[in-house]
Amino acid sequence: MMGYDSLFFNGSDDTQMVRQAIAEGRVILTRDTEIMKRRVVSSGRLRAVLMESEAPERQMRQLMATLDIDIHFRPFTLCLECNRPLEERRKEEVAGRVPPYVYKTQTQYMECPACRRLYWRGTHWEAMTRQLERLAATEEI
Ligand SMILES: [Zn+2]
Repeated sequence: MMGYDSLFFNGSDDTQMVRQAIAEGRVILTRDTEIMKRRVVSSGRLRAVLMESEAPERQMRQLMATLDIDIHFRPFTLCLECNRPLEERRKEEVAGRVPPYVYKTQTQYMECPACRRLYWRGTHWEAMTRQLERLAATEEI
């Protein structure tokens, strides 16, 4: 949502995940204490954060406190489904692909070049923005 390049690793090979994280300069966010014990992490060569909670809001607060994450970084510039940078679309280009009410009220659209999902600043976008701002405003974890 904030525009940070992120991947969900759903494989079972932790070594592969670690290799990819190093190669791509990623920070690993995990609930797995075994990852934290790896030499590559304890030596500081690869940054990893052990998530203290399973609750998404608490996780977000922990990340904001730990990784210097800014909710105003590049909000809603990446596809929420596939992490690809979104491209701007003119209103005419999305005609017939969004609900009539949306088409009537929205002028700015973004499209994911990979999955073709369309985004606009509707009520869902506003709700997500408010949620992020609320999280950023509360300091306790
Ligand atoms: Zn996509």
